[in-house]
Amino acid sequence: TGIEELLLSRIRDVADYPEPGVMFKDITPLLADPAAFTALTDALAEVAASTGATKVVGLEARGFILGAPVAVRAGLGFIPVRKAGKLPGATLSQAYDLEYGSAEIEVHAEDLTGDDRVLVVDDVLATGGTAEASIQLIRRAGAQVAGLAVLMELGFLGGRARLEPALAGAPLEAL
Ligand code: IMP
Repeated sequence: TGIEELLLSRIRDVADYPEPGVMFKDITPLLADPAAFTALTDALAEVAASTGATKVVGLEARGFILGAPVAVRAGLGFIPVRKAGKLPGATLSQAYDLEYGSAEIEVHAEDLTGDDRVLVVDDVLATGGTAEASIQLIRRAGAQVAGLAVLMELGFLGGRARLEPALAGAPLEAL
């Protein structure tokens, strides 16, 4: 479709970043193009509406850039899921494995309630580890997961299959 071509045309492939052998998908050209950024925001806001979400969770850091305008456009609250140690209040934490080592993400526990249905937004779905940990955080906070929406899915890394148990039937939309 038109929007897919527009979005794809604004994503830059950067070879050997952040390490040799990796082809990094750089979304900064898309962010710099108001037509593309607006089209992306509108498309993600439609996903938010179609899933019945009550809140948008954005994953640090590019999930903040995409998720915040989506929340505003959809008329929903925005909640940042941050790397450990950045949030000042009472947090829930979730550790997860990386290829080498591990990482930890956090959310302010009081910002999610049992009434919330949460749409998780990020730029790129790779192995699915970050999204999986965020879904676990949302469920541990007592909220429901409305779905996961990303600009782009790197299909060859198998993130979609990995996330199936965590999503438990909630949709995964990759534009
Ligand atoms: P995963 O946990 O392996 O799915 O990695 C996803 C996280 O890493 C997301 O928060 C992405 O922002 C980031 N990421 C992984 N690969 C890329 C890429 O090629 N471009 C931009 N972000 C990426």
